[in-house]
Amino acid sequence: MKKLLEIKNLEVCFYLDSAIPAVDGVSFDVYEGETLCVVGESGCGKSVTSLSIMQLVATPPGRYLNGEILYRGKNLLGYSTDEMTKIRGKEISMIFQEPMTALNPVHRVGKQIGEALRIHEGYDKKEAFKESIEMLKIVGVPDPVRCANSFPYQLSGGMRQRVMIAMAISCNPNMLIADEPTTALDVTIQQQILDVIKNLKTKTGMTVMFITHDLGVVAEIADRVVVMYAGKVVEEACVKDLFANPLHPYTRALLKCIPRVDEKRDKLDDIKGIVPNPASFPSGCRFHPRCEEAIKICKTIVPEEVTLGDRRVSCHLVTQKAKECRL
Ligand code: SF4
Ligand code: MG
Repeated sequence: MKKLLEIKNLEVCFYLDSAIPAVDGVSFDVYEGETLCVVGESGCGKSVTSLSIMQLVATPPGRYLNGEILYRGKNLLGYSTDEMTKIRGKEISMIFQEPMTALNPVHRVGKQIGEALRIHEGYDKKEAFKESIEMLKIVGVPDPVRCANSFPYQLSGGMRQRVMIAMAISCNPNMLIADEPTTALDVTIQQQILDVIKNLKTKTGMTVMFITHDLGVVAEIADRVVVMYAGKVVEEACVKDLFANPLHPYTRALLKCIPRVDEKRDKLDDIKGIVPNPASFPSGCRFHPRCEEAIKICKTIVPEEVTLGDRRVSCHLVTQKAKECRL
């Protein structure tokens, strides 16, 4: 498969009271036509990574310290504001967790969906509004004409998220980045939004990068998975391998958090402790204070990344095993 996007050694730091390394040497590729899930708890650098692709990190206080984001071989981090405007919406689109903050409260949603068509495709007002109704049909809005004529506050959360998706796909982008688009919604609506994205992908073949903390969602939509912890990628694998044989203790801990229908549990397993504050990451493996499998060197030495076929992982236990196998 062809690479659509290559993130290479990305480092993003925020300069607030102290320097906060939100993304610390992150590398991964996104292949054309796949659904790649980036998974991890809040505060692991997933959103900052995706905002960096769109050059939407506020600078300052943020700063891109290092790395490249190659889209079809060209480094987006070197693009001017004008060049990025041509990419956003037309080549790569993004949807967010809370559509209310992304929608303009004083404009009818039809007008807002049509906006990108007017900018990128030269539609006039009337054509753009008409096309926005078609887009709303595609994302399964029951009464698209009424919806197009509504203001955002008149719609439910699930409807607003459909509007956001309609907006994001209006110019037929190659890639959709979805940052926790279902997190704020209740379970039934969550499923409906996932179905909308899955159907779109089947119909258009677009590439999807889906950010979530929920491995249940990952199981449903991902082809491949990147697991992030404390600003770094800790594991990458195809979805089947990741679920069948998770190599990183953090991935295993996340998997334990998925509720299962065949198991009776009073309480879902949580991962003990909290994601560390980026202003003071732990030494050695950043997961060591929470890791149930930690060994002595985990406290002091940063694990190196091991590549095993098409997967990679950073954990001392895996490095040791790999060495033993080679002996
Ligand atoms: Fe746990 Fe050590 Fe592996 Fe880190 S390196 S995940 S602390 S076993
Ligand atoms: Mg986030």
